[in-house]
Amino acid sequence: MGETDDLLEQLTDLRHSLHREAELSGHEVETASMMHKYFSACHPDEIHEGLGGNGLAVVFHAPERKPGPAVMLRAELDALPLFETGDLPWTSQNLGRAHKCGHDGHMAILAGVARRLQTYPPLSGSVILLLQPAEETGTGALALLADARFQALKPQWIFALHNLPGYPAWSILTREGAFAAGSVGVRIIINGTTSHAAYPEQGKSPDLAMAEIVTGLVNLVNPDNDSLALVTVVHARLGEQAFGISPGDAEILATLRADQNKVLQELKIRAAALSKKVAQQYDLALEIEYCEEFPVTMNDPAAVQAICQVAADLDLDVESPDESPFRWSEDFGLLTEWATHGAMFGLGAGLDHPVLHGPNYDFNDELILPGVTILERICRQIQAE
Ligand SMILES: [Zn+2]
Repeated sequence: MGETDDLLEQLTDLRHSLHREAELSGHEVETASMMHKYFSACHPDEIHEGLGGNGLAVVFHAPERKPGPAVMLRAELDALPLFETGDLPWTSQNLGRAHKCGHDGHMAILAGVARRLQTYPPLSGSVILLLQPAEETGTGALALLADARFQALKPQWIFALHNLPGYPAWSILTREGAFAAGSVGVRIIINGTTSHAAYPEQGKSPDLAMAEIVTGLVNLVNPDNDSLALVTVVHARLGEQAFGISPGDAEILATLRADQNKVLQELKIRAAALSKKVAQQYDLALEIEYCEEFPVTMNDPAAVQAICQVAADLDLDVESPDESPFRWSEDFGLLTEWATHGAMFGLGAGLDHPVLHGPNYDFNDELILPGVTILERICRQIQAE
């Protein structure tokens, strides 16, 4: 077997081991430890553990510390709270937790980059391989940025890839400007007073207010707008399941989404104003909370150009996403904002590959080596200049 076959076998085994050990956001202890072991064997110059929780970063410097830009590459440690179907030999050993977003594959790709850097160190500057915790809940990047030890690693350039089913295998999807939408969860709690269901007039039920707020949220934005602005009501609850009680409280959860941070902030203001107006009208108390906030992932033009150049050198197709930008959110937006230049790109996983977060999804191992080569070349191109 050649060196490439050896590496592919090693990385595929690692990916399957990571898949078996799927851990949820913020609990990626075993995963981080497995990756620490693999990275250590590649003899990086620095290893930083426990960044923003379970985050891990390894640094490879150019020989004799030849000055040059620092390039950071990011993958994610966490899996999803989902059950795995099918009979994969490497099925998750942790019931109700599974790598259904392919973060196991992204980690295997960074492991491959570490192997390459062990043999061929950076041309100048340094390459930092980052495994971030808690991407799925939108808290990991924020926690990293709040960690002084992570701040000390601040690079000039940062890149991340995400595998994308539904696109031809090995095609590259990227664009300048907004790449993935920003989103925020809003929880609206309306408080009235319970009473006997036979005497609803003795209490203060939030039933009509709840219905009005749900309708108002669904119609909050004009669907014909050119730019993306979307409100999805994801959950609603009125009182308890008891036929004898007129309800005293209600709860509505909605996700707000936009392709501009400014529009996302406007949606928050409008959703809050709507809720306040309705609550006042019915003389009910109101609480509003926001959670899982992801800013828009903005791609820097120079970073996108570096990706496109490498794709052209490798004869890979580059497409602009047909949605502009992707409607899903990523907390990588915080990191592209942080570094001088940053961009994210999609790596097509195959037109018929099962969808992300679906029960029968599994990372396409044929993306591992191309992923390694693309990321390695992006670093070399930037550090050769
Ligand atoms: Zn993901």
